[in-house]
Parts: sequence; structure tokens; C-alpha cells
Amino acid sequence: MIARFLLGASALALLVQPVAAQAAASKAEKVAAAAAVDAQAKQIQVMVDQVFSFAEPGFQEVRTSAYLADILEKNGFTVTRGVAGIPTAFTATWGSGGPLIALGSDIDDLLGVSQTPGVPTIKPIITGAPGHGEGHNAGLPMMIAAAIAAKGVMEKNHIPGRLMIWPGVAEELLGTKAFYVRAGMFKDVDACLFAHVNTGFGTGYGDLGLNGMVSVEYSFHGKTAHAAAMPWEGRSALDAAEIMDVAWNFRREHLPVSQRSHDVITNGGGQPNVVPDQAAVWYYFREHDFASVRQLYQTGNEIAEAAAQATGTTVTHQLLGYAAPNWGNKPLAEAAYANIKAVGMPKWTADDQAFAHAVQVANHFKLQPLAADVTPLSTPETRKGLPGFGASDDIGDIMWTVPTITFGFPSNVPNVIFHHATAAMAMATPIAHKGAVVGAKAVAMTVLDLITTPKILADAKAYQRNVQFKADHYDPVLTPDDHPAIHRNEEVMARLRPAMEKYYYDPNRYPSYLVQLGIAYPGTAPAAYYVLSASNSAHTAAAGFRYAGVSVGRNR
Ligand SMILES: [Zn+2]
Repeated sequence: MIARFLLGASALALLVQPVAAQAAASKAEKVAAAAAVDAQAKQIQVMVDQVFSFAEPGFQEVRTSAYLADILEKNGFTVTRGVAGIPTAFTATWGSGGPLIALGSDIDDLLGVSQTPGVPTIKPIITGAPGHGEGHNAGLPMMIAAAIAAKGVMEKNHIPGRLMIWPGVAEELLGTKAFYVRAGMFKDVDACLFAHVNTGFGTGYGDLGLNGMVSVEYSFHGKTAHAAAMPWEGRSALDAAEIMDVAWNFRREHLPVSQRSHDVITNGGGQPNVVPDQAAVWYYFREHDFASVRQLYQTGNEIAEAAAQATGTTVTHQLLGYAAPNWGNKPLAEAAYANIKAVGMPKWTADDQAFAHAVQVANHFKLQPLAADVTPLSTPETRKGLPGFGASDDIGDIMWTVPTITFGFPSNVPNVIFHHATAAMAMATPIAHKGAVVGAKAVAMTVLDLITTPKILADAKAYQRNVQFKADHYDPVLTPDDHPAIHRNEEVMARLRPAMEKYYYDPNRYPSYLVQLGIAYPGTAPAAYYVLSASNSAHTAAAGFRYAGVSVGRNR
């Protein structure tokens, strides 16, 4: 109470706050924040639909970034564009005095998974174009609505504090957050609230079981020659890339079983009768702690050198991304979870349930209705005995820099496959819109808790120091020579953007993107869908609720 008073909360707020309340914003303030989110429900729908329609992959989120930054600017935030040397990154700040709370979510999508929303079968808007096959179109709109709501309550009640909204650029490439940290974007931040689309509504803390990883492309340089007439004159870069893959896969037997590694050949040469002088192979190396990621990376570099030596070629490598293992902050998660429970799940309609069912049936997924209840808090105890999840998320870099949690918010259909068209089907429908509304409420309420309650932030920092940093320490593999891969996806978008622009959502003409596309919601499922429904319980596409509320589907 004293702290609240010193922070200048209004007399009304002090009156309505229960005397026994240890540490939270007042009920009246939270009710006001939730109402301010409800008042933005239309704008949330427009933002979610608009970003879905832009459908931009990593580093090419040009329209998305400009659109969302402009909305923040119009709402009184000070926008700095192009932060950390990344054109589509920005920060939007507001406020004075008090703590600084960062709010972030990813904005990029995935190559090749264009999908018409509101259709339960795979139906690209444009074949081969990128699409929001993970639902990154909803997270930052939700955070913006939360920030605007919290800002309004803070202004009205003269609550000091600062907000910083930031986009996760190129998350599907694990491409930016380590660079954000290196650029000092979080150096004054007291706590970070992150959000990711989910099928449940929850959060968690502790070691979340996601791997750290490094993404690196090895480029081999040889010498071209006529492959039949004078092969002895050539040195094949493709041979080197293949030897690297063979050597890595023999070495794999003698690596810890905990590692995950995988690659694609991104350049295999031109045609067989020309000895390829250039070839490239792109690896992801994943492990569970910083030192092990560093060791895997070192081993990869050594094997690449060996392959170059074996073939008389040379090799260079470029780091394309990095992600630290994920660790959620306990005091933040507990504060957030109280708000998640208070907000509760969206009121799903029969239409929402019918569409979710149609998606599951049409794609042979396990049948499971949209959840009625929030997901239990995910803790080290609830996850005990479960294997690590394998995948990665570069929010880890921020988690090892400032106390951070991820809100999972319920904007998608249970059991869809993430990184896949099925995870895009609901992402511009009322399911996505309603999930973003409840998520924004919980975030706004948690912001108010953190801003008005110094004890939560002090506890969060103590937890990070005494628990998280005792387990490991932030040690990314980035060197001063490593830079964000900002040209990634440039060519594909130069080719596809003109066709995609015809499908951008126009909110001035259409109430929703579904209406613009002429899609009836929830549509009618062909009778054939239902033939499969009795026998499909073995199909479990997503990783399930092992990391419920935290990690389902949000991993590269
Ligand atoms: Zn994601």
C-alpha cells in the first residue's frame, strides 16, 4: 500500500484495493484495462486480419512493421525504426518514471504455406507464397492492444511507468533477438512480457525444455571445369558440401544423444557437366545449454574445414541465427497466471467449435474442442519426467537478459500442425480474434501489476539471479563479425509480392478478411470429413500439452 501511494496511484484506486492485497494493481484498474481491451475488439480484428494478409517472411516484414509501428505512433508512442541494424525492427516507447516493461511478439511468417483462412482444407491464397502457418499475425496486434489499454489506465490514474513494444523479426529464422540483446535494446528494461499464439491460454516458468541453437550456412569455394573433358582442372564445392554431410552424420553417433542437428543444401551447383565452384549447406545445431551449443558449432566448423581440405576447396561460414535455451521467470509467471485465470477463456460459439472440428476432421487430427478452461501453470514440477521439446525459440536470448515470460494465448485450433497450412486456417477467423482479446486483457493487467508493485519486479530479478543464473549463464556464440541476415527472403518477396498485394486486406471496404475473400464462417464441412472422425484419435499432430501454455507450436 505504501509503495502504491508513493507511486502516486489515485485515491480511488487506493480505496478499492483490498487492504490485504500483497502485490497487485487495484481491481478497478484491472477492470478498466479489460474494458479498454474490449473497446478495441474491432481494431484487434482488423490488425490480426491485416497482418495475416501481408504474410511476410523473416526480414521482409516491411508492410507489417510499418503498419503496426504507425498504429503505435498514432496512439502516442515514440517509434524508433530500424533498431539493431534491422530495417523491419522497431521500438515504440511511452511513459516516464517508474519501471520499464517491454512487450513483444513475433511478426514473420513461413515460406510456402499460404492458406485461405476459414477454410478447413489446404487451399493456398497464392500457391507457393508465404503464409501465417504458425499464427505470428496475432501476437503483436494483441500486445499493441494491451499496451494501449495499460497506457490509458496509467494516464487516467497518474501511474508512473514506461512501456516499450517491440516486434520479433525473423523469428522463424531465429534471426534477431540475440542481435537485439547485443545492441542493448533491453539494457534498461525491468521485465519483458512476450506472447505467442497457442491453443491454450497459459504461461510457465523455469527451464522450459527448449533447445539453444545456432543456425549457420557453410559456403564452399572450388574451381569450375568441364566435368567430362578436364575434371582434373576442377575442385568441386559440391563434393565438399556432401562430404561435410557424410562426416557430420558419422560424427553424430559420437555426439551426446541430447543434440539435434539438421541441414539443407542451399546451393548444389548449376548443371552436372560443370564442376560446381560454389556450394552451400545450411545447418541448425541444437543443444540444451550454452556450452554444448558452442561445442556443436565448433565441431561443425571443424568438419567443414576437413571437408574443404579433402576436396581442395575453401570454406567460409555465416551465422544466420542464434537462440538461447528458454527460461521463464517464476514471479512474473505467477503474477501473469493470476490474471489469466481472472480473464478466463474466450466465449466460444457453436460456429467456432464447428470450424475447429472441421479443421481437425478434414486433416485427420485428434478431435478436441476449443478449450473451455485456461491451461494450468507450467512449472518444473508439472513438466517433471517429460523429455525436452527439441525445438528452439529466440526469446531465450531476452529471457537470459531480463526477467521474461511467454504468454500463450488461445487463438488457434488444438492439434493443428505448426509450420504448416493447417495452423493458418483459424488465424483470421473469430477464433484468432477472440484469443487475442483475452490475451491482451491478461497482458494489460499484468503490466499494471508490474508497474505498480515494485516487489514483483524485485522478486523477478532475485529469482533470475538466484535460480536461473545458478543453472547457466548467457553465452551466445555471436562474434563482432556476425550480423543479422537482413537480406534473407528478399528474392522470394521481390518475386511474389506483386501477386500478394492483390490480396491485402482492405478494412475500409470489408468488415473482415473472411468477407473480403468471400469465405462463409464456419462453412460447411463435406460429408466425407465425418467418415474419418471416429478413427482418427491416433493422430496427434502438435506436441500436445506437455508444455501446456508455453511451447505448443511456437518453436523452430
Ligand atoms: Zn512462433
